[in-house]
Amino acid sequence: MRDALLGWYDAHRRALPWRATRDPYAVWVSEIMLQQTRVETVVPYYERFLARFPDPHALARASEDEVLGLWSGLGYYRRARLLHAGAREVVARYGGEVPEDPAARRALPGVGRYTAGAIGSIAFDRREPVVDGNVARVLSRVHGIDTPLGRADTERALWAHAQALVDAERPGDLNQALMELGARVCTPRGPRCAECPIARECVARRDGRTAELPVAKAKKPPREVACVAVVATRGDAVALVKREGELFGGLWELPSAEGRGRAAARGALRTAGIGGRLGAAPVGVLEHVLTHRRLCVEVWRASAASVAGAGGRLVERAALHEVGTSTLTRRCLAVAR
Ligand code: SF4
Repeated sequence: MRDALLGWYDAHRRALPWRATRDPYAVWVSEIMLQQTRVETVVPYYERFLARFPDPHALARASEDEVLGLWSGLGYYRRARLLHAGAREVVARYGGEVPEDPAARRALPGVGRYTAGAIGSIAFDRREPVVDGNVARVLSRVHGIDTPLGRADTERALWAHAQALVDAERPGDLNQALMELGARVCTPRGPRCAECPIARECVARRDGRTAELPVAKAKKPPREVACVAVVATRGDAVALVKREGELFGGLWELPSAEGRGRAAARGALRTAGIGGRLGAAPVGVLEHVLTHRRLCVEVWRASAASVAGAGGRLVERAALHEVGTSTLTRRCLAVAR
């Protein structure tokens, strides 16, 4: 199976920018960006990020605003903050060199078992396995694992199979071959088994169960949340506030609050310390889906007579790209143009 996977990978691998390097820092950046995000989306972000922050020293020196500004639009901003914190730790504790020792790598902020394995195998040529969504799908099908993803016994089985496969020459290529196969051939729907290099070994194909495997995790439906966002302007500048907390922490966004209607919009302005006059009615409503929440956002316009809140500031529209803003903020600004 290993030879078949490596042979297929050598013939079919895509030329992606992070595959042209074995620099552990570059591999780390690419793996963090690729979490939950499509390859085509990541490529330009990766190139800009590496051009601006070519090594951990450069990233460690940057401000959070600068890092989030370059990450704007890529989503899951917690990843960027953890990568930033990780670079600072690599500089402070390891002189700017990403550690080869697996335990030290795993202890870095934001580096879980998957990311540590990807860096270890690709950059350091160590026989460390990876299991991401693509690998889990391939291995579940090949081995006929029919317990739900995410459950402890399933995860143990997947990691054990991945470990057995990677335990030989070219571990980085083997891991990437599995991921690439999952992304391009063993796809969630309609896997192209006729083109698959490991079809002969595959239990799901043999038993006609490719549509059933892997067994999905039971998902909670997203929680519906009604909220308001206020586009308060003075001239060509927009009032933004810096968000605290887990989800969008460190990003600049519009004054917002849970709830509906004028009272909620006024409350959002007050909390942000922005004085001004609110429009007569919302200028639009948009729906925005996050991992666990479905936001129904009423967008209001206001004049920003004063910005006195801690953390609030006026940003010229032309300079918006210099600060980190979420996709939701940019969508609301487009509604209120
Ligand atoms: S044979 Fe089909 S189901 Fe099995 S690993 Fe290959 S593509 Fe996936």
